[in-house]
Amino acid sequence: MLGVYVSIPFCKAKCSFCNFASGVFAGARMESYVARLLAEMRAARTWARELGVALPERVDSIYLGGGTPSLLPPELVRRLFAGIRENFEVDQAAEITVEAAPAQLSDQTLEALQRAGMNRLSFGVQSFVDAEAAAVGRLHTGAECRAELARVSAAGVERVGVDLIAGLPHQTEASWRFTVDQALASGVEHVSVYMLEVDEGSRLGREALAGGTRYGAGALPADDRSADWYAAAGEWLEQGGVRQYEISNFARAGGQSRHNRKYWQRAPYLGFGMDAHSMLRVSACAVRWANADSMSGYVDRLGAFERTVERVGLRESFEEALFLGLRLAEGVDVRSLRAEFGPMLDEVEDALAEVEEAGLLVRQGDALRLTQAGRMVSNEVFSRLLIAEATASAA
Ligand code: SF4
Repeated sequence: MLGVYVSIPFCKAKCSFCNFASGVFAGARMESYVARLLAEMRAARTWARELGVALPERVDSIYLGGGTPSLLPPELVRRLFAGIRENFEVDQAAEITVEAAPAQLSDQTLEALQRAGMNRLSFGVQSFVDAEAAAVGRLHTGAECRAELARVSAAGVERVGVDLIAGLPHQTEASWRFTVDQALASGVEHVSVYMLEVDEGSRLGREALAGGTRYGAGALPADDRSADWYAAAGEWLEQGGVRQYEISNFARAGGQSRHNRKYWQRAPYLGFGMDAHSMLRVSACAVRWANADSMSGYVDRLGAFERTVERVGLRESFEEALFLGLRLAEGVDVRSLRAEFGPMLDEVEDALAEVEEAGLLVRQGDALRLTQAGRMVSNEVFSRLLIAEATASAA
């Protein structure tokens, strides 16, 4: 079945570490943005026909990401979900997730979301420590996060998750432990743990790379410390019954994100909105496209949608199947890889044996998966396999 992603790129303030296509736009923009989303949904089947790809009829996951989708007013929530249900056959048991910022979800919007079928909320907490949250421009305190998690549970939302970031300015091992413990104590079923990305895409990243001290850049912990804390979080969460199922994602039993699993398993998904990405399969291969990554490019162009389309060939599809699958704790199934990509698997056989020898990968029956050590250096493992594959295909 199909996954549907909807980008809601509106934020109250831009966090200093954020490198997503999101921003602070005039409130009046929301209405025209949702109207454009609905137009894009209406045009989805025609677009898939033009590309020559099949579009699955039924949808079993919907994900509103951002940005801050919890800022949508109730009327736009109603219009948006009515549009989704008019254009797609949404399964009765579909997982419907909405990303929210703590203290930025009104009772009215929460009620409208629940009426629309939302059954999973994902909060961008990042840190339960006030000084750390404030340093990167988050608009909430730890107490507000705790109150928010209790409020949505009391309102009947059973499936709740939080995102946390290791490596924030002012963070220490003790404060990071506090944040992870708070997430565990809240009883949420899902925790995503990311390492702070320091790159040119965010104000904090640019400042840190330039050696400056603004936006908390002067108080960033060293990279190796953040990496240690990241690894430690995995252990603490496992001890608390929240198990790793993907490199950055942990869940209690039954709490994995069906929607996000689609990305790692190369299941088809459609993305609507600014900078949204889509992927539909064509047997073992795929067609991918990305929408315009600016508000004006997405909303203000009349008629046709601005998109970058890419046809993914067999070799690239093999790489994706292998690397995305290895992100999952259960790993990839060698039999299905062989059935879809045949001899390409043989091209990386020696490199696989090498990383296995180095203790970064294990084979168990038909499963090929990264070890704990392998997950910590997953990019290095992937690049070793990529080099082996490129060398073999050039030979
Ligand atoms: S981190 Fe989230 S809330 Fe902050 S600017 Fe980025 S998208 Fe908006």
